[in-house]
Amino acid sequence: MKKIIILGGGGFIGGHLAKKLKDSGFFVRIADIKKHEYLTQDEICHEFIQCDLADPVAVENVIFEDCFELYQLAADMGGAGYIFTGLNDANVMSNSALINLNVAREAVKKKVQKVFYSSSACIYPEHNQLDPSNPNCEESSAYPANPDSEYGWEKLFSERLYLAYNRNFNLNVRVARFHNIFGPYGTWNGGKEKAPAAMLRKAAETIEGNTFEVWGDGQQTRSFLYIDDCLEAIERFMKSDFIGPINIGSEKMVTINELAEMAIDISKKDISIHNIDGQEFIDKYGFKCPLGVRGRRSDNSLFRSTIGWEVNQPLIDGMRKTYAWINEQVKHAAR
Ligand code: NAD
Repeated sequence: MKKIIILGGGGFIGGHLAKKLKDSGFFVRIADIKKHEYLTQDEICHEFIQCDLADPVAVENVIFEDCFELYQLAADMGGAGYIFTGLNDANVMSNSALINLNVAREAVKKKVQKVFYSSSACIYPEHNQLDPSNPNCEESSAYPANPDSEYGWEKLFSERLYLAYNRNFNLNVRVARFHNIFGPYGTWNGGKEKAPAAMLRKAAETIEGNTFEVWGDGQQTRSFLYIDDCLEAIERFMKSDFIGPINIGSEKMVTINELAEMAIDISKKDISIHNIDGQEFIDKYGFKCPLGVRGRRSDNSLFRSTIGWEVNQPLIDGMRKTYAWINEQVKHAAR
């Protein structure tokens, strides 16, 4: 049995990935600071180690010698409410940078055969994402760097860290930049949820005839990739010889209001949207509306030409599946 380590396997993407690899016959060890909230240990791994990966001793214990593939997904992250308020910047940067410094060094020591690192679309420069109808997220546009959040700066640093370990110590790395991955079994409430989960939760919670809030004017654009497509892209990337960085995302761009309307349509309720911004937002929440860049979508030209794969699931299909799960969570929480 080939052995796999998934750091951050107690989280959304890591949990799905662990389940897929375990089901495919790999031995899977997960390390995370917390257990998966929705999937049992049995469903996703053979071993679970609960630890803080910012601690080098923990990382030393977690990474074993004969590791076939290691997936580094652990990061201090969340949606706009967590990343863009500025309130969590020091923790976001130090927690994630420490994890990556520990992991890169230990992976070389233990001769891990291949390391996957999950970077983010948040590394792209703000000045290329001011036009909501035509943002540029081509991989080569990352420099000169100007991410709009400290989360993005840390990801950029860690991309460079893994690539430097590749050049200097022959660490076999694959660096991917995820663009808004969504699906069931992810954070759907509490402030760390991303836009699709937030819209679907609001649609599930809102009573017929009422309104729900959408942050900003709703004209900011994004693209969203369903988790099954993300897992497929990871597998193909890992099997390729290309080390990256490479985008993993969808090219289909929607405005946030369109995403909210999609969630409302799926819920089949008569709900209207209230866009909250400016002083109204500050009066209500005590800080400036955290929106991120004006427009963003994945550019898949490099993935297409180097790996040869296209996204399968239309956004609406992924949103329907995710709504079914979130609606159950909302009902369960209300009981
Ligand atoms: P997630 O928050 O669900 O998973 C991250 C996991 O890391 C969590 O389970 C968390 O407990 C764990 N973690 C954080 N700090 C830790 C520590 N000090 N020690 C041990 N574990 C720790 O996030 P996700 O959506 O599954 O994202 C996985 C990776 O992909 C992250 O690195 C994230 O930055 C990156 N990414 C995700 C998206 C997305 O849309 N989901 C987009 C871009 C990049």
